[in-house]
Amino acid sequence: MKNKYDKTLIWFKIITIFPEMFRAITDYGITSRAIKKKIIDINFLNPRNFTKNKYKSIDDRPYGGGPGMLMSAEPLYLSIQHAKSELKDATVIYLSPQGKLLKQNYIQKLIKKKKIIFICGRYEGIDQRIIDYQVNEEWSIGNYILTGGELAAMIMIDSISRLIPGVIKTKKSIEQDSFSKNLLDYPNYTRPKITNNISVPEILLSGNHSQIRLWRLKQALGKTWIKRPDLLKKHILTQEEAILLNEFKKNFNK
Ligand code: SAM
Repeated sequence: MKNKYDKTLIWFKIITIFPEMFRAITDYGITSRAIKKKIIDINFLNPRNFTKNKYKSIDDRPYGGGPGMLMSAEPLYLSIQHAKSELKDATVIYLSPQGKLLKQNYIQKLIKKKKIIFICGRYEGIDQRIIDYQVNEEWSIGNYILTGGELAAMIMIDSISRLIPGVIKTKKSIEQDSFSKNLLDYPNYTRPKITNNISVPEILLSGNHSQIRLWRLKQALGKTWIKRPDLLKKHILTQEEAILLNEFKKNFNK
């Protein structure tokens, strides 16, 4: 007999003292639907439930002095062991500003892991022994400091989930997303045709699909050239793309 997890494609276990924060992804939008459809599975472990002191405190002062508190090793260690007992061979990820900077092409690789345990730090972070002996990978969502790893975990789960087959209905919309080919997405317009006296570019109303494709590709190349020249450097231009980009540049300088 098939069990409820038969079609689940990726399992997440999140170690956090604020599981309620995750309602943003468990209760809303595409991720919530993917959970209902059992394509993804998200569960939580609160390190407070693994404390042995009567106040259930999970933090302590850093050895050697210094500001703030640190999450203690033991409740985290016990949470990780518990998570691993339910998710064998899972990759343990610590969300950290010291981790590898998250990019779209890494997200594509992370999907293949299938089972991920996230550790969300709080305060000044977590005891280094957890990072050294329990964590497989450290990931940062940007060069700035958050108050906790929860938002970073949600960002990772959201971006991983939308690449899982079946989560987003049209595969094409993923393929044309910004970054998917080191190019930004082309400009998009919807009804009405005219708003505040500004009209949709005529070509999009023409019904000429080969011309629309060329226009979109030119805009994507041009936008990337203007906004993210660093991405364009990584993109190997086809002959067609080189011509389109040149045309865009010529018109841009006029
Ligand atoms: N003292 C730590 C440091 O400088 O590396 C920062 C601690 S931060 C205030 C608290 C927690 O937020 C971290 O343990 C981490 O889990 C999370 N965090 C903060 N910034 C992050 C970022 N850019 N990416 C991922 N997680 C982050």
